Amino acid sequence: MSLMGTNNIFDIDDDKLKEECGVFGIFAHDEAASLTALGLHALQHRGQEATGIVSFDGDDFHAHRAAKMVASAFGDPRVMRTLTGDIAIGHNRYSTSGDTTPRNIQPLYADLSFGGFAMAHNGNLTNANTLRRALVQKGALFQSTSDTEVIIHLMALAAEKNPFDKMVSALKKIEGAYSLVACAKGFLIGARDPHGVRPLVLGRLEHEGGVSHVLTSESCALDIVGATLVREVEPGEVVVIDNKGVHSHRPFDKKPPKFCIFEYIYFARPDSLMEGNSVYQIRKNIGAELAREAPCAQADLVVPVPDSGVPAAIGYAAEAGIPFDLGIIRSHYVGRTFIQPSEATRNLGVKMKHNANQALIEGKKVVLVDDSIVRGTTSKKIVEMVRAAGATEVHMRISSPPTSHSCFYGIDTPSKEGLMAHRMDVDEICAHIGADSLSYISVDGLYRAVGEAKRNMDEPQYCDACFTGDYAVARLDHENASTNDKVTDLREGQN
Ligand code: SF4
Repeated sequence: MSLMGTNNIFDIDDDKLKEECGVFGIFAHDEAASLTALGLHALQHRGQEATGIVSFDGDDFHAHRAAKMVASAFGDPRVMRTLTGDIAIGHNRYSTSGDTTPRNIQPLYADLSFGGFAMAHNGNLTNANTLRRALVQKGALFQSTSDTEVIIHLMALAAEKNPFDKMVSALKKIEGAYSLVACAKGFLIGARDPHGVRPLVLGRLEHEGGVSHVLTSESCALDIVGATLVREVEPGEVVVIDNKGVHSHRPFDKKPPKFCIFEYIYFARPDSLMEGNSVYQIRKNIGAELAREAPCAQADLVVPVPDSGVPAAIGYAAEAGIPFDLGIIRSHYVGRTFIQPSEATRNLGVKMKHNANQALIEGKKVVLVDDSIVRGTTSKKIVEMVRAAGATEVHMRISSPPTSHSCFYGIDTPSKEGLMAHRMDVDEICAHIGADSLSYISVDGLYRAVGEAKRNMDEPQYCDACFTGDYAVARLDHENASTNDKVTDLREGQN
């Protein structure tokens, strides 16, 4: 349990990789902002510290941003009444240190030579610092520490005249991961980086007033507004939506796809479809692979660490033929952080979120299934809690390979040194968390679960760098930065 700041505020989820960000945009709907708020609500799991919407009414842009959850930021009808227009984009932000400053809350807005322009970004640019330094030397006045603003300054300086050409010119200069939605007078734009690291989908909404198009991070945000999934925005594709329809452009050199495989393990909502796959089914597949790779024949019960461990535990139990049951109950009323009253309550964090179901697990040999171990702090406390409730054996099974490397593409990870799997091997981690046994799914097992025969060692089909250290997407600034710089860069640039 890490203390955050000086007020004994602790991060209840400090043993998880933090979600990244979520984006939503809609074109040609009279209630564009309201639908955007609904979409952002469905994407709340991708960012819980701040949210914002920018709308356009044909003449003016309107914005509301707040360091709040979506329901409280947009639950006031007076706020929604200010967000007029039939085009809107929105963003949910996650940042690491609890100091989300208003200037970093997206969508960002700027007046450019062609008029107003708003943009929301999910991902991390890996050459943002280099570009930022060059832009500052040319006189750019940055308003935020967000790497997204680099794109806007690049657009401002681009010689091209129209918004699309300016945006493509800027995107050709950036490296790293981005799924963007942007709007200006008369159109909505979506863009996905050439490797397609972060997700972005196109949806269609038919209604009395006609047809509207939606761009968003996950298909679950289409479901909530009644839109249907048309397709994914392809890696390297720029989609322009205007009154004439949807126009697809491919302005970049083709690169091998590197979709984040961790979306399947943890980040995405299980009711979303990604690459045509049900995220829920993939998680069950991972659990089944794990049961084949790391059986535990003597166990009485398979217990998920809820909520994220549930689908994998169902898959594990079904494959192993061991009963599945809810041996840990999760509170749904706990936020991300809480004030720690005293050092004596050092297990409070885990107990606020999870409690052992003693009547079920007392006297049982238990397989605990979780999605990942990052720092190891929560896993240790959960194992202790399950033992204290009377389990006679606790066998931990993890539905990801060991998380041994940092992510530079939009996921908040500790520096390598803070990752338990970077410092310890599996036996050492098992001893540290106090489990009777510990197994992780293998990298090839994970690839099998997502439908591949195995990982292609020459050209991996996915980004899996946090498990393998194989950073196929450029790291640039981060490669040469010190550990502290990296953490600062990641935190400042987190979108
Ligand atoms: Fe996803 Fe890991 Fe790659 Fe980051 S490093 S994009 S979390 S697979």
